[in-house]
Amino acid sequence: MGRPTAQKAPQGTEPVTHETLQALHTMGHGRHLVRWIYRGIRAQFHISLDVLKATWVTDIGRDINDKEWSFSLQYAKQVSRNTRFKLIQFYLFHQAYLTPHRLNRIYHTTTLHCPRSHAADADLLHVLWSCPSLTQYWNAIGATLAEIMDESIGLSPAFFLLGLHPWKRASKVRMRFMDLDLLLAKCQLTRCWKSPHAPSLLSWKEEVLRCSQAESAALRREECRGLRRKPMSLEWDSLVEELRTHLKT
Ligand SMILES: [Zn+2]
Repeated sequence: MGRPTAQKAPQGTEPVTHETLQALHTMGHGRHLVRWIYRGIRAQFHISLDVLKATWVTDIGRDINDKEWSFSLQYAKQVSRNTRFKLIQFYLFHQAYLTPHRLNRIYHTTTLHCPRSHAADADLLHVLWSCPSLTQYWNAIGATLAEIMDESIGLSPAFFLLGLHPWKRASKVRMRFMDLDLLLAKCQLTRCWKSPHAPSLLSWKEEVLRCSQAESAALRREECRGLRRKPMSLEWDSLVEELRTHLKT
């Protein structure tokens, strides 16, 4: 399939749903598609990056310095080799998902309330992070990661949602492993957007295991072809083994 043309870009206030992402995913792979989608999101919602940054600063409750903001802008491009996963992080970063709050601004008859906790004015931060019904979900994910990494994992939306790691010296492999795990946790949330229940922790762990094994195979192929200066697969596999052990307990 050739490169998509600008005429096919999403227009107006077309709802951005998981189904939309799936449909876009079938259109092709690669950097060109992601770049095209990125431009489409920006054009669709007329997003000012200054406004977006101010919104995130308010949402995560702390300042974002220039280096962190620059990282966040690039994060979706590098968080995964899977195009669908990249798009999910793009939409999340640009706050483009249709939350009850956003839907109510478009269709005034829809409810503002969270489908899980029934809290009023459920915006993106609420439905992804601060909803009381998700507290156990995020706590359990943080605890699982802390056990696998043998490291304290603070529950921070800056880290969990934007990928702003609190560690300066963590190895590239460990950060990549955590990025994948957290991305899959967010993917689960986007799949059950309207569900009254939090996503299943067990299904998250199983998907992390499946995807991290696939990543292991991809790393090994790259190493065999001499595409990596530093081998990563051994360290990666030790983390996968930790996860597998954790699943058995
Ligand atoms: Zn809620």
